[in-house]
Amino acid sequence: MTATRTLDDLKASLAPSDRMPLVFLGHGSPMNAIEDTDYSRAWTDLGRSLPRPTAILVVSAHWMTRGTTLVDVSAMPGTIHDFYGFPQALYHQQYPAPGDPALAREVVSLLASHHAQEDDSWGLDHGAWTVLKFLYPGADVPVFQVSIDMGRGLDYQLEIGKTLSELRDRGVLILGSGNVVHNLGQIRWGANSQPHDFALEFDALFADRLVDRDFAALADRAGLGALFEAAHPSVDHYMPALTIAGASDARDDLTFMTDSIDLGSVSMRSYVFHSA
Ligand code: ZN
Repeated sequence: MTATRTLDDLKASLAPSDRMPLVFLGHGSPMNAIEDTDYSRAWTDLGRSLPRPTAILVVSAHWMTRGTTLVDVSAMPGTIHDFYGFPQALYHQQYPAPGDPALAREVVSLLASHHAQEDDSWGLDHGAWTVLKFLYPGADVPVFQVSIDMGRGLDYQLEIGKTLSELRDRGVLILGSGNVVHNLGQIRWGANSQPHDFALEFDALFADRLVDRDFAALADRAGLGALFEAAHPSVDHYMPALTIAGASDARDDLTFMTDSIDLGSVSMRSYVFHSA
């Protein structure tokens, strides 16, 4: 098990394989979609390194449902500009990738025990398209989203990841998009804003547990205690990180990518599980 390799090492190990890697990306500010940042550059590099998927299934922090897990079965998912007060250029962004209705309906069946249902009213929210536009700039790989059921505990997303994992053997890239630490109420503006202690501490704890594959600890909200509540006043951005962990298994290596704290309270830590 390796957790400290660089992106260059990762590239060397991501030769085409029958089993797709799993990717979790900290997406942070929507501005990453139109600015040249360390993050957008890392996403471009990653896209060039990944085997080409047959389809992409995205679990984004920004599609929250309650009591059900929705799967977008639309043929052409629209680009959703689900943010306010940003420059007009961001609202002009489009990511015109096709959907994959047939595969999406299979996923509804696969997640039947998780109360999954078809949906054709969502599309691609900014958790998905702001990173996909760098990973696959041609928008030529079919993509669809699966919602997160906010009515369930953290362990539910581990289970969903485990259930979805068989898709990896069919060339499907499972992409989680959220943030390992996400507390917008504690944001510190300014280019050189210092990370909050709670942000550094929870980010490090998360990374350690992930390396140890102690996913149960990461889903134990009571056990994580006040530190977790500081890192995640609401759990939406944390859930996709667990989906990706749940889809991994002992055969996978783990590589971290960007791991800085942005704006004092948003962890941009990203990671890839991939065949050794
Ligand atoms: Zn977000």
